[in-house]
Amino acid sequence: MKRGIGNIYVKKKFGGIVMGKLYFRYGAMGSSKTANALMVRYNYIEKGQNAIILKPRAENRDGEKTVKSRIGLSAECTFVEDFLDTVTNEWFTGKSDSWKKLDCVIVDEAQFLLEEQVDLLAEVVDKYDLPVICYGLRTDFTSHLFTGSKRLMEIANYIEEVPTVCWCGRRAHFNARVHDGKIVRSGEQIMMGGNESYVSVCRRHFLSGEVNGERERNLNE
Ligand SMILES: [Zn+2]
Repeated sequence: MKRGIGNIYVKKKFGGIVMGKLYFRYGAMGSSKTANALMVRYNYIEKGQNAIILKPRAENRDGEKTVKSRIGLSAECTFVEDFLDTVTNEWFTGKSDSWKKLDCVIVDEAQFLLEEQVDLLAEVVDKYDLPVICYGLRTDFTSHLFTGSKRLMEIANYIEEVPTVCWCGRRAHFNARVHDGKIVRSGEQIMMGGNESYVSVCRRHFLSGEVNGERERNLNE
């Protein structure tokens, strides 16, 4: 099976059995997860296949059924809750076989999924041999796992990092919440409409609280 960012996940046959897999691709803020999700979707469409893109309704920054990346790519999406209603009420009961028309399910902002939603997505993988590719943050601004990410870490077939870097050049694994230029270490996990922003930083700079800085380059080393 070909793997990698932007690659299409071709359903591969092993002894006549088509195998879908559950993927969790995590990254800090600013790691282009949404752009990657949209690229994967585009790759399916380009090959004449059908990929649906989902996001949790709870993730409601814009209130729209749209997935947007910072670099300007966007696509219409379906709420996870609506998709899973169809799965449980129509697919599992045999009322509909619309799963046959789907080749891939992509989930953006998967950190906001509930545990039971992740479990249902895993059932979709196993019952219908559909690849389900989830993109999300690993941890919140206090460096603890989000609910959806925790469950995905527990049950996904593949766990892959979408990398990004701290201002110092190290790999960034932490999402620092910043208010008036200073790191914030307590508060609600999800802040809606506040003046906070987020900066992805390495562990050293998360712990020290230095969310801004200039990379020092030592050319003599
Ligand atoms: Zn750093």
